[in-house]
Amino acid sequence: MMLSYHLRENGVLIRNKEEYTRVAATEDSVSIHLESNKVITTDVLLWAQGRTGNSNALHLEKLGIPTDSRGSIQINDKHQTAVQNIYAVGDVCGFPSLASAAYDQGRFAATHIIEGKCEHQLLAYIPTGIYTIPEISSIGKTERELTQEKIPYEVGHSFSDILHAPRLPETKPVC
Ligand SMILES: Cc1cc2nc3c(=O)[nH]c(=O)nc-3n(C[C@H](O)[C@H](O)[C@H](O)COP(=O)(O)OP(=O)(O)OC[C@H]3O[C@@H](n4cnc5c(N)ncnc54)[C@H](O)[C@@H]3O)c2cc1C
Repeated sequence: MMLSYHLRENGVLIRNKEEYTRVAATEDSVSIHLESNKVITTDVLLWAQGRTGNSNALHLEKLGIPTDSRGSIQINDKHQTAVQNIYAVGDVCGFPSLASAAYDQGRFAATHIIEGKCEHQLLAYIPTGIYTIPEISSIGKTERELTQEKIPYEVGHSFSDILHAPRLPETKPVC
């Protein structure tokens, strides 16, 4: 939501919940035909579909380990796959797909293998980041989740405007 707000402020038009049916290119334009019957014609199309797990070639289905539509291996809160003595950590498990998370997930899985326990509650508190300008990072529950769970909270304001001022003069503070 925060990112959408800042992108819109910078003149970006965001169309959520749209799916393309066809892309047609000519010498000097690209037309994207959407399921909603809209046609968007632009000079250039940049396709950013995110990352997918490189799990196809592993034939995990033969082991009875399911993957989702993005090739991510499904795991439980101890990082065990459907086959309990096969663990999966890192990007191949999907969100949050960050190096910092992969390190921690590896440690949690190793602790479970060696000591039979897993600090799985820490998994909910892995910081995540969106590398945009302004950068956005978060940890723990969102305001919406806290409201839904009826947990009172206070909103703090970071000093990001001061920290970023020398580096990114046009960056607006995000709290
Ligand atoms: C452009 C880019 C920028 C990023 N920037 C950041 C950042 O600033 N901060 C951050 O925290 N994260 C960042 N990430 C994400 C971070 O790189 C990953 O989250 C992290 O590398 C995941 O570690 P991993 O060990 O799960 O997977 P990987 O680092 O991808 O390691 C998987 C390894 O398995 C190997 N492999 C794959 N298939 C097989 C196979 N069949 N047999 C044997 N080996 C195989 C691969 O060759 C690879 O060496 C970035 C990612 C990208 C793509």
